[in-house]
Amino acid sequence: MTSSVSSVSPPRALARTDIRAVWQDVLTRLEPQIPRSQFITWFRDTAALGLDGSTLIVGLPLPMSLNWHLEHYRAMTLQAAQEAEPSVTQVVYKVDVSLKEDRGRGFDLLQLFPERKQRKLPGRGEVKVAEGIVSRILSPRYTMENFIVGTSNRLAFAACQAVATRPGDRYNPLFLYGGVGLGKTHLLQATGNAILRQMPKAMIVYTTTEDFTNQVIEAITQQKMEPFRRRYRLVDVLIIDDVQFLAKKERTQEEFFHTFNALYEDRKQIIISADRPPAELHLDDRLTSRFERGMIADLSQPDYETRLAILMEKAREYELFIDMTVLQFIAEHATRNVRELEGILMQAVAQYELEQRVPTVRSIAEIMAKLNKDPHAEAETVGFETPPKKRATFQDVMEAVSRYYSVSVQDMIGASRVREVLIPRQIAMYLLKKHMDISYVRIGECFSGRDHTTVMNAVQRVEGRLHTDPQLLRELRSLEREIGVVQ
Ligand code: ADP
Ligand code: MG
Repeated sequence: MTSSVSSVSPPRALARTDIRAVWQDVLTRLEPQIPRSQFITWFRDTAALGLDGSTLIVGLPLPMSLNWHLEHYRAMTLQAAQEAEPSVTQVVYKVDVSLKEDRGRGFDLLQLFPERKQRKLPGRGEVKVAEGIVSRILSPRYTMENFIVGTSNRLAFAACQAVATRPGDRYNPLFLYGGVGLGKTHLLQATGNAILRQMPKAMIVYTTTEDFTNQVIEAITQQKMEPFRRRYRLVDVLIIDDVQFLAKKERTQEEFFHTFNALYEDRKQIIISADRPPAELHLDDRLTSRFERGMIADLSQPDYETRLAILMEKAREYELFIDMTVLQFIAEHATRNVRELEGILMQAVAQYELEQRVPTVRSIAEIMAKLNKDPHAEAETVGFETPPKKRATFQDVMEAVSRYYSVSVQDMIGASRVREVLIPRQIAMYLLKKHMDISYVRIGECFSGRDHTTVMNAVQRVEGRLHTDPQLLRELRSLEREIGVVQ
């Protein structure tokens, strides 16, 4: 007998419950591979819509996430899907906005994947400081692990790592300098924390120049200079922050010089920070030359990639689920220092917690305008009034909208009135009107001869929604970028 058609099995269709289990399995495999904030952002409300032969159809709730998935997660998702369901050979995406409304179809990722445990660092009581020595508690918030390394701080970070592994050895003293908010205190404390983790009994003193000065003054007024010096000799690691404030304080400088020498000779580690290099601090020459004897590393302004990485790390730390495009927007516009980045993010957290407002490009632009960090930011995002860079063509617009919303050009032009087609059609009309110098009548003709009032209504509807729907604003920005009418 020759084989007949009947021996070919029909396409396997998994039951709805099975497909749900498959998708949960896929998510479980993906979760450890993707930073948490991104995982939540991009996989929230997703679902497997079905298995068509060997093609897994993945549903995405947001049109804007399609490109991101295609670019970043397709290969990973396919691999995870093959592991979960070996018959899968292909993954395709389908935007299904109803997933967002009908939450039960996706998974509650927060429930499914509760926060992983944070690394534990020694708490307050474990910091050993002899009586009479004021040391700030090292904050467990600052670690080497959550410090993001880029070209702007690579040398400083490497030096701190070396010091953390072998304190008192090669880089002594270690002198870090850089402008405000670039991570000096973070690195100083992280180094202290790292040493403490290795040597829980070490006496690590982290002090600000201000605290140190106050102690010297107190010792002088109480005539207890000798005990003060003796006590400081017991220190294993002395970390002193912001020594630019030693300028013009001759007596404190002198005491510091003695302490410094004593510790240095005992091969105890000294770590110092300032806002400028030693030679520019205008300190006693002897002190300056001591500082220059060791390792000097600077911290400069982080570049875009580093800023973005820092934002992602901070968002994760604050458990703020924030869209990548929003983080990118912050990284593009907040360029001064890391503290500024963090400040904006904190405001976003507050907004989220107090008003339940999910951060959007627009809300962030508002925050930034308020903080007066970048007065142009708002104008730029909301800048639909800015003149287009070039004229669009009908084809450009239709193809961009079609790709973006996964709707065919034919459908948009055609008669369908389902929501999935209706909204992209309105958006296409809006973009055509805005970026091409053509009449409503002409646009109507392009859409199967629709009446010009239909086109007017569509354009007005989109314009109206723009004021209340930041998501739409963002989608339009992406589309305009795609079409090439804005940068
Ligand atoms: P400085 O002491 O230089 O003024 P800080 O160390 O106080 O700056 O840094 C300001 C904020 O920015 C801190 O919250 C710190 O955690 C954060 N920060 C700075 N640089 C980085 C980095 N590279 N990675 C992660 N966080 C950073
Ligand atoms: Mg500081």
